[in-house]
Amino acid sequence: MSQLLRIKCPSCGTVVDVAASGTCSKCGNALVLPEDGVIQIYRMGSPLGIAVGMGIYVNENPLGHLANADSIRIPVPYGHYKVHMTHGGNRKCVDAEFDITPQERIVYLKAHLKMGIITNTVVIEKVTADQMPPL
Ligand SMILES: [Zn+2]
Repeated sequence: MSQLLRIKCPSCGTVVDVAASGTCSKCGNALVLPEDGVIQIYRMGSPLGIAVGMGIYVNENPLGHLANADSIRIPVPYGHYKVHMTHGGNRKCVDAEFDITPQERIVYLKAHLKMGIITNTVVIEKVTADQMPPL
């Protein structure tokens, strides 16, 4: 489990995991984390495709990968979000769509692979905090 926060550097576009605001490890420019809310995503453990990282897309923006049975927190400003995830070359996904608001500042998502006859589908479900593993 990771306590780190994932953010895309606004200067160079590198996706980095950081503990707090600071500087980008690649370009050295300032990284200021949004403090309104957090999208927390947990990828449920599965023996299927275990070595393949799931690609994370927030409002179409790629935000790196998530390993099997791992979790990540993405700090965001208030707004409307759609989270899409891919598995290897497979882009089939049941997306999660939600709002980050002052009333709901942390959104918890669980992702798992659903087996299909031809292709598998990534299913992202919005859950409550007690359904998430501890960080
Ligand atoms: Zn950078």
